[in-house]
Amino acid sequence: MEREKLIKAMEGILGERGVIHEREQLRTYECDGLMNYRVIPDLVVLPESAEDVQRIVRICHEEGIPFVARGSGTGLSGGALPVESGLLIVMSRMRRIIEVDLENMRMVVEPGVINLHVSNEVAHENYYYAPDPASQSVSSIGGNLAENSGGVHCLKYGFTTNHVMAAEIVLADGEIVNVGGGKANDAPGYELLGAFVGSEGTLGIATKVTLKLMKKPESVRTLLAAFGDLEEAGEAVSGIIGAGIVPAAIEMMDSQTVAAVEKTVKPGFPQAEAILIVELDGPQAEVDSQFQRVYDVCETAKASEIRIAESDEQRALFWKGRKAAFAAMGSVANDYYVQDSVVPRTELSKVLKRIGELSEEHGLQVANVFHAGDGNLHPLVLYNNENEGEGERAEALAGDIVFACLEHGGSLTGEHGIGLDKKKYMPKMFTEDDMNTMQLLRCAFDPHHLCNPGKVFPTPRLCGERPGPWKMHPIQKAGLAEMF
Ligand SMILES: Cc1cc2nc3c(=O)[nH]c(=O)nc-3n(C[C@H](O)[C@H](O)[C@H](O)COP(=O)(O)OP(=O)(O)OC[C@H]3O[C@@H](n4cnc5c(N)ncnc54)[C@H](O)[C@@H]3O)c2cc1C
Repeated sequence: MEREKLIKAMEGILGERGVIHEREQLRTYECDGLMNYRVIPDLVVLPESAEDVQRIVRICHEEGIPFVARGSGTGLSGGALPVESGLLIVMSRMRRIIEVDLENMRMVVEPGVINLHVSNEVAHENYYYAPDPASQSVSSIGGNLAENSGGVHCLKYGFTTNHVMAAEIVLADGEIVNVGGGKANDAPGYELLGAFVGSEGTLGIATKVTLKLMKKPESVRTLLAAFGDLEEAGEAVSGIIGAGIVPAAIEMMDSQTVAAVEKTVKPGFPQAEAILIVELDGPQAEVDSQFQRVYDVCETAKASEIRIAESDEQRALFWKGRKAAFAAMGSVANDYYVQDSVVPRTELSKVLKRIGELSEEHGLQVANVFHAGDGNLHPLVLYNNENEGEGERAEALAGDIVFACLEHGGSLTGEHGIGLDKKKYMPKMFTEDDMNTMQLLRCAFDPHHLCNPGKVFPTPRLCGERPGPWKMHPIQKAGLAEMF
């Protein structure tokens, strides 16, 4: 379909204010949080209802136009990067809270609803929504669902997948389907909701999501412990988990991160090589006894200072320091590249040491701030894009960190997704059969690969390849070419 005709068709569904087609305005949407990849979309549309999404997708299906859903665009793996000559479907106008059902501890929302707004909506009744990415004040529930987002409290409470009960999805051919249960907690049949969560927008567009709410815990206690090196802090993490305690959160920051945070949000953290924030929650008596054990473990691991949050304000300040860490990095580096791999907790100190070596080898600084309890690392490779070739060096260093994590039994991503960023590493983790099985699922949902194409799986770039179940090209098999 010609562009002009497509614009008219979209305006017919959404009105003029729901369609963006001026090049300068389209540039707003050229990237997500992974800013070194940019593509200006052909057209941006802003649906206001599931029916709008359905009508838009039907046209895409009939005309063979690729489309990408976008929530708030905070993704760090390029998942919402537009496809050239494709449509970007931005969900930010679908922000209605449809139903709050405290008796059944659930809430039904549209996908553009901001994560933090869910908790705010029910805070007065002492309920909250557990998954809390550091981007929670801006990222959308649709984006969280697609990325299976985590956050500081996911160590104890699990990721988005553990807190979504059902979803309404517009499939790639425009059909609307419901996956997951109703008000009951379980649904028979294939676990299609589980397949959809974390599918990074490649299986369809969520237009309605049912979330599980939680009652706020009776007691919360938080401490901050400073250490002379990352290894000692790592020992404290192992000591806490080894004692059979499952804290609500254990987060670690290195000295560079602390320095950046002090420069910006100024939480008053001690100067140290490593800082741990440990939070316990639950019944008062249990929290009190376990808190003392956590304190003792930190002392045994040679903590140079331990501070206990004495008020909600102080606790909020600890977390403000942690949650602002990515943003604060802008005060010490022009650009940074966030890596997001996971290693078994027991391998943390070895991998952190290797990251230090890689940083020296590549001549670029790496700051570490991460979910230590989950073994989910977030090394931030600092660079200056204005320096010739530094962006490429940063990406190469980040890649070597991925390999180091895989060598230590880790995984490609903890919570930020594969997107465009890490699809080239998929064959390093999965076998051909693994990838084929994933492709079977994807092809069942979207046989024509219109729904967020070019993400998650390595894109065929060699002649003679077609979309469909993933196959290693003979040239690649012979070791003469790589797929990216
Ligand atoms: C400062 C900062 C801190 C962060 N901290 C964390 C963290 O602690 N934990 C964490 O997990 N992530 C974190 N992130 C990453 C990011 O915020 C999450 O991945 C988030 O879930 C993305 O949500 P979004 O609404 O911005 O989605 P987008 O970036 O717009 O999209 C992300 C993916 O979701 C798909 N998508 C969006 N909406 C829909 C929909 N309705 N249906 C189907 N697919 C859809 C898109 O196609 C894309 O593939 C952080 C990012 C930043 C910038």
